[in-house]
Amino acid sequence: MPAKAILISIGDEILYGQTLDTNSHWIAGALDSLGIRVSKKLTIADTREDILYYLKESEDQADVVLLTGGLGPTSDDLTKPCLVEYFGTQLERNEEMLENIRRLFKKAGREMSEVHEQQADMPANCTPVANNMGTAPGMWFERNGKVIVSMPGVPYEMRKMMEETVLPKLSSMFIKDSIYHRMIRTIGIGESALAEIIKDWEKSLPPHIKLAYLPTMGSVKLRLTTSGESEQTKKEVQNKIDEVLPLINKYVYGFDDEEIEEAIGRMLKTRNLKLAIAESCTGGFLSHKITSVAGSSEWYSGALVPYSNQLKNEQLKVDNKIMEEHGAVSEPVVLALAKNIREVFKADVGVGISGVAGPGGGSKEKPVGTVWIGYSDEKKTVAKKFQFVRDRNINIAYSVVAALNMIRINLDKD
Ligand code: ATP
Ligand code: MG
Repeated sequence: MPAKAILISIGDEILYGQTLDTNSHWIAGALDSLGIRVSKKLTIADTREDILYYLKESEDQADVVLLTGGLGPTSDDLTKPCLVEYFGTQLERNEEMLENIRRLFKKAGREMSEVHEQQADMPANCTPVANNMGTAPGMWFERNGKVIVSMPGVPYEMRKMMEETVLPKLSSMFIKDSIYHRMIRTIGIGESALAEIIKDWEKSLPPHIKLAYLPTMGSVKLRLTTSGESEQTKKEVQNKIDEVLPLINKYVYGFDDEEIEEAIGRMLKTRNLKLAIAESCTGGFLSHKITSVAGSSEWYSGALVPYSNQLKNEQLKVDNKIMEEHGAVSEPVVLALAKNIREVFKADVGVGISGVAGPGGGSKEKPVGTVWIGYSDEKKTVAKKFQFVRDRNINIAYSVVAALNMIRINLDKD
């Protein structure tokens, strides 16, 4: 039996809908890779009664209970006093944690107050978990073979703590129920069309290899899952992947954790090419995606956001007459954007995006969600029209995925 975990996100702001609970999402993925099964996720208010009630319920039902939130020094942060009460213990000042907090304040050049020193007060029965990104230490409790860990709500503080301390400790305590996942990442094809292409292959899968379709924002991931991590299992899964690839090759951009922007980076890097972008309606979002890939400076020159027609004309030599005649959201405009940004930035590949993100600005000929994307390299300059149908932010996000896919397709053609 795999170890069972319950995750508790504490915070009124999550229940009010002001904060999205990304912590439990991330933790669930991290535990999955350890083979610890999350059986339940709870989001609860910052109240003593609820914290005590759900702590008890979760400790009864699971081997591991991970809490995030409510560790701050302010009066609305109740997790620590509740844990003290729950375990019937008392607070003791921990010199090591105090030193950590002092160091952090010194580094930031800030004055420390008594409130901050109190963050080093730890329940006597816990093992403090150092927080290298903030002032609130985490707390690791163990009794009857069960583990309860409390961590800060701030996502990057929690993550660091998990990666440095909690995950290694958990993995040494609980025997791994080896679940083996592989992911084939596709783009530019819908879930049902993909299912149609691979239906015979799907039928050929043995019962112990499970297939899941995971669609997100213009891409569909195919996940193959099996238990056991022996070399033989891995080989069997790899053989199945090799079998399906020829059927769907033109949609596959990568495997496992690789995101589309990382795949583009890999492709550009191996071809020794640099990318430049002129993005209007996406306002820099494509550039943001690309620069979130570590090492992108090796294959990315930069972007211009020529939002106004004046800028399109002055910076990128898009003919005013063309814009008057065809509008800014049009084939000739993105062709010019893609070609000229490549030349202006002395890059090898240029991309131009112009669209109607909405909610305003649509017309009969160019309804909201009409997006033109241009691509240009040494050999060709091409453009494609997309019609997205959702709200502004989603249209922007889809445009970015479409542009990345267009780069992939055109690089593959060369
Ligand atoms: P701090 O020491 O900063 O006060 P804390 O442990 O008290 O840390 P909270 O006050 O609960 O944490 O939350 C700190 C920040 O982290 C807030 O901006 C909150 O919205 C965010 N946060 C809390 N819980 C989550 C969660 N489950 N997912 C994503 N963000 C969260
Ligand atoms: Mg809180």
